[in-house]
Amino acid sequence: MSTGRVYLVGAGPGDPGLLTARALELIALADVILYDRLIPEAALDGARADSELVFVGKEGAGDSVPQDQTLDLLLARARAGRTVVRLKGGDPFVFGRGGEEALALREAGIPFEVVPGVTAGVAASAYAGIPVTHRGLASAVAFVTGHTREDADEEIDWNGLARFPGTLVFYMGVRELQTIAAALIDAGRPPQQAAAVVEAGTLATQRTVRAPLAEIASAAREHDVRAPAITLVGEVARMADVLAWLPDRPLAGVSVVVTRARERASGLSRSLRELGARVIEAPAIRTQPLDGPALDPSAYDLICLTSPNAVAGLFARLAAGGRDARALAGIRIAAIGPGTSEALTGHGVIADIVPTQSTAEGLVEALQGVEVRRALIPRALIARDVLPDSLRARGAEVEILPVYETLPAPLSERTRRAALDADYVTFTSSSTVRNFIAVAGPDFSARTRLLSIGPATTATLREHGLEPHVEARRHDVEGVVQALLDDKRAGA
Ligand code: SAH
Repeated sequence: MSTGRVYLVGAGPGDPGLLTARALELIALADVILYDRLIPEAALDGARADSELVFVGKEGAGDSVPQDQTLDLLLARARAGRTVVRLKGGDPFVFGRGGEEALALREAGIPFEVVPGVTAGVAASAYAGIPVTHRGLASAVAFVTGHTREDADEEIDWNGLARFPGTLVFYMGVRELQTIAAALIDAGRPPQQAAAVVEAGTLATQRTVRAPLAEIASAAREHDVRAPAITLVGEVARMADVLAWLPDRPLAGVSVVVTRARERASGLSRSLRELGARVIEAPAIRTQPLDGPALDPSAYDLICLTSPNAVAGLFARLAAGGRDARALAGIRIAAIGPGTSEALTGHGVIADIVPTQSTAEGLVEALQGVEVRRALIPRALIARDVLPDSLRARGAEVEILPVYETLPAPLSERTRRAALDADYVTFTSSSTVRNFIAVAGPDFSARTRLLSIGPATTATLREHGLEPHVEARRHDVEGVVQALLDDKRAGA
């Protein structure tokens, strides 16, 4: 067996948008991912379902997985011929011990690549509106470890740092800020020099605390600043007062679980993240396309599509017979809502009928005046029969074509725990309810609020003995986001 390859990959400071294209590509490719605590929560979303995900970081204030053990695992998996991604917060070579791991790999003769990441010192500063260099204010920047404890590997040269002609960016030192500031001032750094602490940089909960160097430690204590945070010392820190640009985000600090299948989660997750929410993707379902014979649609005068997955399935069956959108010419196409009609547009088809209420009932109503002889409904293997029943009741011939099924997908223990403890759990279909409860159980924390996309999903929640706290008025992704915003506002 040939030796595998190891990628030492930086995952950026926390905002998943700051993962590099290369990092995402390798995460999707990896057989094994060894990851740290400070990686973006969403970083592993793109990992293969069958990849081995191993947490090797430090949990809270507890002990970290010893570095030796991490190295052993790294070497063992690579020797077994696996493609290993070693995923680290920020940049792997900036206080990430990436250098040590690279040395061990070189020594073991294992090929590796290093993928730089956006380091916290640069990213948190940028998100706080602090340019680390600025003409006339700072012509140099130093990244410094704030680890001043006795067990620290190296002594800090306070005199050298005090004289450094530019911005100092301290990593890791929030708890030792008092010592750091005092040591710098003792060594000659002006006590009145501007300083800033940026907590949770680039994350939804980012905060900046500003004060002169002499007071920065007490200011941070007053605001209860916690790790991860960086501390900037230098006149550029002042610029946060005018350049801070992050808008007030209405969902800042709110954790929201997205339960829909990973293939479909991205739109909802993105909207929520843009509003500042901490999104926990807990895709309790995955959709599995069902293969079947080629479809000749010419005998139908109506095709009803009730999900983007159904659209994908329809076109897969058409393609199986060498057909494309042209085979639908002359057939009326109905879509249940905006997501489904968007999926159709992607195939060059504009839906004839889209109800204002994105429910099966809404679709039935929209079809009222439409003449139907023979209808086709490509859909999930298990689904409600409201639509076919109503068409049949009107004398139409209806054929149901199962083109996909939804299956429960296991959640990692970490995700499961985070999901049950979140502020909101969003349910966007009956199958997300069934499968989420099947894999995560119903033991939500007392403050967790359950949000249902609409009446059908609400009914399924009730079947499971759960009462949603909020039901969206519009039964689509935008409706879910709006309902969450309204609920948050009402509660605040
Ligand atoms: N390799 C990482 C740094 C690892 S050391 C990088 O390049 O960014 C861990 C320290 O990084 C933390 O103690 C904190 O000082 C800093 N850090 C990491 N993520 C951060 C964030 N989102 N905001 C502020 N500081 C962060």
